[in-house]
Amino acid sequence: FVKKATADAGGSFDVGLPNAEMGKVVTRFPPEPSGFLHIGHAKAALLNQHFAEMYKGRLLVRFDDTNPSKEKDEFVDNIIKDIKDLGLTFEKITYTSDYFPQLLDMGERLIKAGVLYADDTPVEQMREERLNRVESKCRGRSVAENLAAWEEMKKGTDAGVNYALRFKFDMKSVNGCLRDPVAFRCNPTHHWRTGLKFKVYPTYDFACPFVDAYEGVTHALRTSEYKDREDQYYWVLKEMQKVWPGLPHVHMWDYSRLNFVNTVLSKRKLTWFVETGRVDGWADPRMPTVQGIFRRGLRIEALKEFILQQGASRNVTFQEWDKIWSINKRLIDPVCPRHTAVENRARVPVRLTNGPPETEVVVIPRHKKYEPAGKKALLRSSQIWLDQNDAKELQDGEEFTLMDWGNAVVKSITKDPSGVVTSMDVALHLEGDVKKTKWKLTWLAQSDELVDLCLLDFDYLVTKRKIEEEDDFMALVNPHTRFETAAQGDTNMRTLQKGDVLQLERKGYFIVDEPLTKPGKPMVLFNIPDGRTKNM
Ligand code: ATP
Ligand code: MG
Ligand code: MG
Repeated sequence: FVKKATADAGGSFDVGLPNAEMGKVVTRFPPEPSGFLHIGHAKAALLNQHFAEMYKGRLLVRFDDTNPSKEKDEFVDNIIKDIKDLGLTFEKITYTSDYFPQLLDMGERLIKAGVLYADDTPVEQMREERLNRVESKCRGRSVAENLAAWEEMKKGTDAGVNYALRFKFDMKSVNGCLRDPVAFRCNPTHHWRTGLKFKVYPTYDFACPFVDAYEGVTHALRTSEYKDREDQYYWVLKEMQKVWPGLPHVHMWDYSRLNFVNTVLSKRKLTWFVETGRVDGWADPRMPTVQGIFRRGLRIEALKEFILQQGASRNVTFQEWDKIWSINKRLIDPVCPRHTAVENRARVPVRLTNGPPETEVVVIPRHKKYEPAGKKALLRSSQIWLDQNDAKELQDGEEFTLMDWGNAVVKSITKDPSGVVTSMDVALHLEGDVKKTKWKLTWLAQSDELVDLCLLDFDYLVTKRKIEEEDDFMALVNPHTRFETAAQGDTNMRTLQKGDVLQLERKGYFIVDEPLTKPGKPMVLFNIPDGRTKNM
């Protein structure tokens, strides 16, 4: 089949799965519940869903919970939430641990067939031997000896914990994955779901092909860096089919892993950020988790479009965050309401010498080109605020535009010795042509009703653009990743709710993270990157 990645907008996979029959394709998304889902997992999930839909087949979600030392039900609950937020339509959720009895049965059949042997070589030595292609001294054990060791393993006895069950494959193979991979380990730890019932746990290499086949998965998708393991998967499956009549075949299909610049995408590394308090949990807006990026203001439609645009390319590349955020901007800009804010720091009181004697209220649309956004009240008075950065640009006598009002002319500017503008007098000149001014400025009428805002912006968690596996990411942590600006917003902002997306004119797009709840506590808004800024 042809690999053709479509990079054009709205593109999708114009490439099929091999051996796929319409109506019969079954794919699966198999997260391990050892962390929240990140954007790489979202790609895996959406890709599996894409192929299930394309062939009018089915998608299964399977928690790959074979390592009792790492997994927690907190993660299961959050992954289920993430899967729902991703809009995944799946047939059912299963757990690898559902199949422990069958997996143990399979283990026993393979011992009896002479395919698995019990090995108590110390872990370090086993690693050495695999590296040097040396056969284990345990390889020649009889079936009876292996079964006896297996019994000890299943009971989790002192002798049992020293054993691993290994496949008798090919210790001379150039492919390290075929050098007698481990199939079961003994681990008498409490399992989050099965408790202490089982003391032996299948490895991923053993459980995955079996459960895929057993559940009737027709196409198992895997990232291409595991290409080496493909042979192993097929070898394992073939041995299993010999001792388990009717166990169907599974086709593997690989796609490229998603990486982003200035980002770590591995649960182990993300766990470190959470556990060391460098972020405020897995849903922190700086985290590349599904919860983090949605909380930061990414829309699911933008995520889907981005992932489908990548096509079926197998090149492992580092994606730019700008790319995904500019898709997002294209979606939110036409619909999100407009509001105005002025920063508190060094804001400039401006007197309109010929302004309205009393505060006037004008009703204007929240979005000039999108009526459903509703209306808002614009307050006009003779005392207004300008941002310091804007006031600084104005010259004495200059004509400029007050947005949604009209032109004005600077009459006098007062500055402190360091050049900071401390006040300004201007005269309205409403007959002036707004098209001719250089500065079209946002402003707010001074009022007790303005809404206190805490504007937050964020930067990447790591300073290196392309983090490689061998990099010490802890040494690349960005020390400053959270930037806070106090501001006030127009009175209409008072009713905004958590998750509302808006534009603060001339400042950018924002999402409400904490609405107003009690007096004295500002509304918290996160800046939504728009693909033009440097950070995320
Ligand atoms: P991580 O170390 O990041 O947690 P993982 O592969 O160990 O990754 P799993 O929970 O086993 O985590 O992954 C679930 C599925 O998501 C697997 O099919 C896996 O291949 C896929 N996946 C994980 N990371 C990425 C990524 N960066 N890009 C694409 N697919 C990914
Ligand atoms: Mg995994
Ligand atoms: Mg991992």
